[in-house]
Parts: sequence; structure tokens; C-alpha cells
Amino acid sequence: MADFRLTPDFKTIARFRKDNGKAIRSVCRHFVELCRQLDLFSQAIVAIDGSKFKAVNNRDKNFTSAKMERRKQQLEDSIDRYLAALDSADQEEHAVAETQAIKLTEKIAALKQRMAELKELDVKMQAAPDKQLSLTDPDARSMKTRGTGIVGYNVQTAVDTKHHLIVAQEVTNAGTDRDQLSSMAKQARTAMGIQDITAIADRVYYKGEEILACHEAGITALVPKSLTSNNKAKGLYDKSKFIYMADKDEYRCPAGQSLSKRYTSIEQGKTLYTYWNSGCRVCALKDQCTPDTERRFRRWEHEAVLDAMQVRLNNMPEAMLISKQTVELMITLLTTAMTAWKEG
Ligand code: SF4
Repeated sequence: MADFRLTPDFKTIARFRKDNGKAIRSVCRHFVELCRQLDLFSQAIVAIDGSKFKAVNNRDKNFTSAKMERRKQQLEDSIDRYLAALDSADQEEHAVAETQAIKLTEKIAALKQRMAELKELDVKMQAAPDKQLSLTDPDARSMKTRGTGIVGYNVQTAVDTKHHLIVAQEVTNAGTDRDQLSSMAKQARTAMGIQDITAIADRVYYKGEEILACHEAGITALVPKSLTSNNKAKGLYDKSKFIYMADKDEYRCPAGQSLSKRYTSIEQGKTLYTYWNSGCRVCALKDQCTPDTERRFRRWEHEAVLDAMQVRLNNMPEAMLISKQTVELMITLLTTAMTAWKEG
């Protein structure tokens, strides 16, 4: 009797995905198009998030230049060690030493063979645009993440917050989500066919340039700022205690003093303005404000875009909760799907 419990292994599914990538994307596009026709995206809010998935490829099957050099060095060290042991064995004349010499010679030959294979892989790796090579899963990449990093993928998704439908997805090899906001938001907008959309993401997406790119594209971004503040940790006033007065282009400090714009600098392509007040030295609040001669502030030329976003977030405190609920559901679905895929 035929056994119908056959299940495809991960390679079968991976090959299917690779060979039919275009068609799978087309199905997803048509599905989103259908949702659009059914007017399911009327709320025009998407939650963006990324999930890291470990590839079937394990670390030993992934090569970067640094890893390749390390492996070669380890092999060379082993060959040197065995050659030294072979020299010692050659100087002895008894039968045991002879057997040992044969074994050592075999080991040295195996290591040299491995070295030749590594050199071949090195040539392939150097030819890859990003100088990386993954043997089992060729698309997987070594990604820097918190901790030791992983070899795998960073799957970005934009999910409609009303019906929890994935409207855009992208597989990347980026170790962090910081550079993904605007591209995912733009893809979501195209897929939904709505000009004015709001894109919500958590604080790991907070990057001035990305939020500016959304603003310039007419997309309303909602991304909370990271809560880390060195000054607060030291018991000093944090930036929230200083109010920017747009009409005067200056900051008002907790002592009611004005911090005026002093100079402009350009760092990593960003134009920054620096503000301070000359009276800090004699201020009664100085101990709570700064250990330096004066408290200085730097402001990005496009900081107004970030300030406006903070105002929107203050007026919409439920935004992050909506985003969290949406992406948690989506991550559960994705993780289940990926686990099923890996386990065949
Ligand atoms: S130390 Fe300077 S910036 Fe701080 S509160 Fe006093 S005057 Fe204002």
C-alpha cells in the first residue's frame, strides 16, 4: 500500500522557492491587490518589523575573509605541529616510531588537501560582491547582531494594522533594522495603493536619515526614540528638560537661560549646529546640569522632522501598542512558517 506521509525536506522547499521566486512574489502581489480592491487597507497604517532567521547553513559552512584567514592559519599551525612531530619520529629508529611517522604523514597529507580546498573556496569567496560564501544556503550571510551574530536572514515585513495582512516583505542580510524603515514604508505604500500612509516601527528603527526619507516621501513615520541618556544615568538633566524655541532658533534651559547657536559643523555628512550659554559657570543649577564649563547642545539641520514626529507620538500613545500587537502576531506566524519549512 502506498505511503502518503511523504514530506519534502528543506532542500526541496528551498529549491522550489529559488526556482519559483518570481511566481511566489507575483502571487503575493496579486493577493495584496485583491485586498486593495476589497478596500481592506482603508486605515492606511502599517507596522514594520524585522525578524532574524538562522539559515540551514551553519557557521562552519559560511566564510568571510577574516574567517577564511583564521581557518588557513589553524591549518598551517597544525601542519607545522605534525611536521615537528614527524622530525622527532624520524630521529628514532624503533618500529613504534615508524608507525607513528606513517600516521603523521597521512595526517599532514589530509591537512594539505583541506588547505587546497580552502584556497579554492577563497577564490570563489573573493569573486562574490560582498566577499562572503555560504555553502549550504548560498543566500545566507553572516550578520552582526547583538551577541555573537548569526548566519541567516533578516526578514523585513510591513503589516497592515487593521487586518494584520502582510503588505510588503523583503529578505535582507542586514544585521540591524536601522536602515530599513523608508524602503519598507515605500514598498508598503506602493502595494496598498494609498498615497498617505503612516508607518509605525519600534525604537530599533530610529535613525534620523530614514525618518527624513519617509518625511520627504510624504510618509508619516512614528518611531520612538531610544531611551538611553548618558546624562540621565549620571543624574544630570536630560535633553527633554531643554526646550527648543523654533522662532528664535535657540534652546531654553531649566534655569530659563537661552542657549544660542554658536557654530556649524559637518560630521559623517550631517550638518550639525552647536548651542550653549555663556553663563553656565555661575548658574545655581550647574551641578544638576553639567560637569563641563557649559552645557552644549547639538542639533541636526533636519531635527524639526524628528521633533514633529515626537509630537505625533505624544498625541498617539496607543501607536506603539498597536504596532507591538500587530508585529507579535506576524512574527508568531512567520516563525511557525519558517520552522515548518526548515523541518520539512
Ligand atoms: S548650567 Fe547652563 S544650561 Fe544648565 S541650567 Fe544652568 S545656565 Fe542652563
